Amino acid sequence: MSTIADNILEVSSRIHAATLAANRAENSVHLLAVSKTKPAQDLREAYAAGLRDFGENYLQEALGKQLELADLPLIWHFIGPIQSNKTRAIAEHFDWVHSVDRLKIAQRLSEQRPADLPPLNICIQVNVSGEASKSGCTPADLPALASAISALPRLTLRGLMAIPEPTEDRAAQDAAFAAVQSLQASLNLPLDTLSMGMSHDLESAIAQGATWVRIGTALFGARDYDRP
Ligand SMILES: *Cc1c(COP(=O)(O)O)cnc(C)c1O
Repeated sequence: MSTIADNILEVSSRIHAATLAANRAENSVHLLAVSKTKPAQDLREAYAAGLRDFGENYLQEALGKQLELADLPLIWHFIGPIQSNKTRAIAEHFDWVHSVDRLKIAQRLSEQRPADLPPLNICIQVNVSGEASKSGCTPADLPALASAISALPRLTLRGLMAIPEPTEDRAAQDAAFAAVQSLQASLNLPLDTLSMGMSHDLESAIAQGATWVRIGTALFGARDYDRP
């Protein structure tokens, strides 16, 4: 069985190869370790092997791990669906939020971001697969949402996030990620982040401009949702 450290080497070499193949700068793609359902010890191992950025989907689970790992200088990214009653804790305990898809949530995050912390980094989740996915704003709603969010004082709008419909077909992956990149370009805002690509499609995402790939399974193994 391979260890988390082995998996990190393997994923890093996939990222490196895809970055070179796309003629992109060597360090232009960052690895976000998606640790949902995984115990704090796994994050500790990933930290020891050099990772700093961790993505979590479930607030209570994330807060528990943050307490257990308070001795480590980790950077926390919230990547799951957000209910209004969770915004305060997210604003207080995370550095990034990748999954903002409506203005009300962004306004609450801005109001609730503590004054002693830097502005919260935000990605707008956009739904480029139509009916297939429920989360994310529509491409039609994106321009108005992006301009409203970029005006909020305690947030820094960094870019877009997408989770296209899963497919093993490389051409379909490329088309979905290219659509995200062109939506980003059409906004005419100073954005530097495209959060897209997971374990099965990171090569395509990097070819289409991803700056964060969000990787769970390829680092930590399959998830067991029965375990708390
Ligand atoms: C779980 C999750 C991932 C990681 O997916 P893998 O296929 O395990 O790499 C990435 N992004 C989001 C938003 C997720 O919920």
